Amino acid sequence: MTLNIKQLTIKQAHELLVTKKMSVLELVEATLKEAEASRGLNAYLEIFDDVRTQAEVAQKMIDEGCATFLAGIPFAMKDNILIKGKVASASSKMLENYVATYDAFVTKKLRDAGAVFVGRTNMDEFAMGGSTENSAFGVTKNPHDKTRVPGGSSGGSAAALAAGAALAALGTDTGGSIRQPAAFCGVVGLKPTYGSVSRSGLIAMASSLDQAGPFAKTVEDAEIIFDCIKGHDPMDSTSYPDNFPRKDFKKPKVIGVPTEFIRAKGVDPRVLQNFETALEQMKKAGYEVREISLPSLALGLSVYYILMPAEVSSNLARLDGVRYGYHADSTNLLEDYMRSRGEGFGCEVRRRILLGTYVLSSGYYDAYYNRACAVRETLRDGFTKAFEEVDIIATPTTPTPAFKIGEKSQDPLQMYLADIFTVPVNIAGVPAISIPSGVVEEGGSKLPLGIQFIAPNFMESALFAAGKDFEKVRDSNII
Ligand code: GLN
Repeated sequence: MTLNIKQLTIKQAHELLVTKKMSVLELVEATLKEAEASRGLNAYLEIFDDVRTQAEVAQKMIDEGCATFLAGIPFAMKDNILIKGKVASASSKMLENYVATYDAFVTKKLRDAGAVFVGRTNMDEFAMGGSTENSAFGVTKNPHDKTRVPGGSSGGSAAALAAGAALAALGTDTGGSIRQPAAFCGVVGLKPTYGSVSRSGLIAMASSLDQAGPFAKTVEDAEIIFDCIKGHDPMDSTSYPDNFPRKDFKKPKVIGVPTEFIRAKGVDPRVLQNFETALEQMKKAGYEVREISLPSLALGLSVYYILMPAEVSSNLARLDGVRYGYHADSTNLLEDYMRSRGEGFGCEVRRRILLGTYVLSSGYYDAYYNRACAVRETLRDGFTKAFEEVDIIATPTTPTPAFKIGEKSQDPLQMYLADIFTVPVNIAGVPAISIPSGVVEEGGSKLPLGIQFIAPNFMESALFAAGKDFEKVRDSNII
């Protein structure tokens, strides 16, 4: 049968597989063909050589009648998620030859469910960036316009999915790295509640902010993946026990909009217009839209760019060229460290290590790091209070559509501003989803935009419910 992989959802593929209208191998071959056809995007750093063997394992599960929704589904995996026996480089020269010795928790969950790992995808080095331009292995291109970035840091995963070179993908999100590329590439991206998906086996960036999560074409597909990868893991001390008390599901009705914050300078008017339209559509679907005041949101970016580099500088200290990773020989141990780290890390990674070391240094610790920790609490409280009034909060996912390759790479501050709507979510730890909300036309290309819904801790179900409603009512001008 001829498959339109670019349109095919997990749910549909699952139906075709279990009714034997399609074999796993057929699905995998069709995916590999798309991966080959879209090689110029540089979405994958490597296509695995055992994809067909994995397909056989999945087929057996299906034939034996024990297929999960994900059995036989081709996945693109971000290059900072360990898959036993495969290279996991975090797109860094430092870990170019590092072979994972074990499966990450999320990998194991997917493997047990019968998922097929197609390959590992390009990303900003150690997940630091919002454009995939910081990869040591070249930039990834946006499938909707090859002169533009796919977003980042999980740009390769988003681009692979949007190009039909996978049916699903996994990424990590420390300050927006799933939601922002999802918005730029026209797919759904979920950042789960901090602690609901184990971080064991992810190459850490900023441990108090990092979460792994799914990319998918539909909200329903994202939910299927989330249901598979969530759950308690004793290997991650911040993973919540499965019996941790949670509120019961209540269908969301009231959407809070921090209007003041959204109208801040620098947001593209087309983004604002698209957002307004999306809210109108939600009203038609029966939701109440209420303006809320959440002034602490404006502090998110400043807090993030103190806490994140602090944690980065500490997490990356282990990469000293001695224990593992890139090693450059020099005249003594100190020189070895300096050469190995100087040559092994790219410019943005070194910038953040320096920033982090600075904010943690004895004279500045109180002034920067401790104050940022205090403001983090203010931000968390702000969200808690807001959620007493509204069920979910909506913002645009990004202030602009995908920008041109090279447009912001020389100006780190401009690049950091692109995270304005996504980082407060990680600071607070709450879950959020980005859903395609329409397109803007520019230079002959249709550039996707995304709307972000934010929910209280462990209320992913509210995001899925609102997200599915939005998918039904949104403008049909969707890629
Ligand atoms: N763009 C943000 C940054 O550069 C987010 C990165 C991420 O979520 N990994 O830090």
